[in-house]
Formats: sequence, C-alpha cells, structure tokens
Amino acid sequence: MASGHTVPWFDLTRQYRELRQEVQQAVEEVLSAGNFILGPSVERFEQEFAAYLGAKHCVGLNSGTSALHLALLTCDVGAGDEVITTPATWISTSWAISYVGARPVFVDIEPDTYCLDADKVEAAITHRTKAILPVHLYGQAADVQRLEAIAAKRGLALIEDACQAHGARFHGRRLGTFGRLSCFSFYPGKNLGAYGEAGAVVTDDARLAERIRNLRNHAQPARHNHTEIGFNMRMEGLQGAILSVKLRHLERWLAARRQIAQRYSAAWAGLAGLHVPGVRPGSEHAWHIYALRVDGRDGFQSMLASRGIQSTVHYPTPVHLQPAYAHLDYRAGDFPIAEALSRTQVTMPLFPEMTGAEVEHVIATVRAWTAARNADRAAA
Ligand SMILES: *Cc1c(COP(=O)(O)O)cnc(C)c1O
Repeated sequence: MASGHTVPWFDLTRQYRELRQEVQQAVEEVLSAGNFILGPSVERFEQEFAAYLGAKHCVGLNSGTSALHLALLTCDVGAGDEVITTPATWISTSWAISYVGARPVFVDIEPDTYCLDADKVEAAITHRTKAILPVHLYGQAADVQRLEAIAAKRGLALIEDACQAHGARFHGRRLGTFGRLSCFSFYPGKNLGAYGEAGAVVTDDARLAERIRNLRNHAQPARHNHTEIGFNMRMEGLQGAILSVKLRHLERWLAARRQIAQRYSAAWAGLAGLHVPGVRPGSEHAWHIYALRVDGRDGFQSMLASRGIQSTVHYPTPVHLQPAYAHLDYRAGDFPIAEALSRTQVTMPLFPEMTGAEVEHVIATVRAWTAARNADRAAA
C-alpha cells in the first residue's frame, strides 16, 4: 500500500467512472423526452426490479422512508396501534411507525446476526399490535420465515425493511418477497443506489400496490379528483433511468462484496477482542455493511485512521435511547444486545471497487493490531 493513500470506507466516484457512458446515455434519454417525474423510465425500472426479486409489483417512490410510511398506512396501521420492531436500525424504521400515529414497540436483537430476535417477539404482542417490522440489518436476512409464521398465527401484518438488503436471499428466495409488503431505499450509498433520493415498495398484492400508486401521486386516479389524503412521494424519471442501468451490474457488485467480506472474516475469525459478523444458516448476505464488533472501539478506530483506513459506526445510539423517543420511556439496559452492538460496532471499508491491495492493507492492519495488543496483555 503506498503511504499517504487513504482507504475510504465507501467511495461512489469509482463506480461512476465505470458507468459514466451508460448513465449519461440514460440521463440524456430522460432529459430529451422531458419525463422528469414518474413516466416510462420509472415504469421500466419498477418492472425490472420486481422481476429481479421475483415479486409481482414494485411501486417507485422518493425514498425508503416513504416506502415504510406508505406500507404501514396501507396495512391500516394508525393511531393507538403498536408495531414491533428493532432498536438496532437506521431511525427511519421507527419514524414511519410514528408518522402513521402508531407506537414502536422494540424487541432486542439476536447476538450473532443483529436482527430482530423472533424468540422475543411473541411476548411483546398485545391486543394493540398490528404489524411486525423486521430489518434485514447490514444486508442479512432477519428470521423472516419464523416471523411470518408468528404474524400468520397472530393475525398481524409482516412488513420487511429491506432497505439494506438488495439482492440478499434467504433459503434461495430474495429478501423483498417475504411478508405482505417490503420496503427498499435507493439512497446513493445503498447496494443499489440512485443519484439522489429514491425508494420503492414491493408486494404481490395488486390491491395494495394500486393504493400505494395512488397515494404517492396526491391520490388522484383522475387528474384533480383526490380520492383520499395523498402525498407527493413520486420517484423521479432520472432516478428510474439510473437505477435501471445500475440494476444490470448489481449481481457483479454483490459478488465482489461477498468476496471481500469472506476474505475479512477468514482473516479475522477467532482473533481475540474481535467478533466477525455471524451468518444465519440459509442466508445469502448482501454485505451492505461489514459490521465488526471490537472491544475498545475508539482506540481501534484511531489506530485504523493513523494507518489511512476510514471506518464508521452504524449506529452509535440505538433508537430507543434517541431523544426523539424519550416519550416512550425506554431506559438504558432495556435491550442489552442492541446496546452492546451500538457500543462495539465498527463499519469496515467494503465496496465493490476496492482494490486487492486495499483489502490486503485492511486485513494486515487489523491482524497486526490484535497481535500487538495481545502481546501487550501477555506481558502485563
Ligand atoms: C436507508 C434506510 C432507510 C431509509 O431510506 P431513505 O431512502 O434514506 O429514506 C430505512 N431503513 C433502513 C434500515 C435503512 O438503511
């Protein structure tokens, strides 16, 4: 590794350099035709993404947050209702529950996969519970088959937050095809990202898809005739066109992510003071985020920075301890596994365009750090 070179935890400019021609042509088509909001490029992407997942309907929206919001709304979740979800996620999962007037009810996560713990879900169900909203955190499947069984038994809606899980599978089936509705974000940094804000809801239910199509566009099936309280949550034409280009490359990018993650885990498994991410049997991880857990995170991150390696944290504060949710009266200690994750998690550099030399440098730096630390401890 040349000294002075920084390994970013993430870099979209390399991907654009590779795609420039394809993207510019797609953008040119949208601009020449003047289809800026929804239109043929969005319809085409909706069909392609649904086909890629093996789902019947995809409705393009302006963000993953909007997807979660409209999914809950169309499951008739509203004021006074409860939705069971995880505190270890990006805040939008809970925002959407709050937007429809319902209450997020948090349940702790599994220690190895960091996803909602199905064993603890049933105890949290009350007569107010309307839905279960698991997150495929970091790109790995929550235990959706067990959660589907619980939801079916108790008459609840299961909605997937698949915003980090484009292309992941569980027992051969794509995430985004479980439950009643599934929500995706195409925020630029996601495994499949737009060049701006975008999201989608995916479902096999034609009636729900139709209602979301209506809601996203001011609820006007015919112009100036508004059938319910609607929203402006439409996907832009440019984003649809760009996403179609990028979808053609997704499998190759996933393979590159998987290869880097496997190299990391093989090199670091079993090192004292580190926990490599666990993989659920039957789960094909999309490796949106490579989440290491490290004892002594701050020192570890400064050591990485001093060797030119960027890292970050997803997420330093679990949702139940955010000031915005103080009114829910949760306390530190309520969800020990999620809280431990937020104290120890480190997001390591991982993106498809990383060079072999960069991956090697990250691997060797982490190994050297654990060796030096363990030698210090043995000497002490
Ligand atoms: C990114 C993300 C969202 C929100 O998506 P936006 O497009 O940024 O609104 C929701 N849930 C999870 C788990 C996410 O990672």
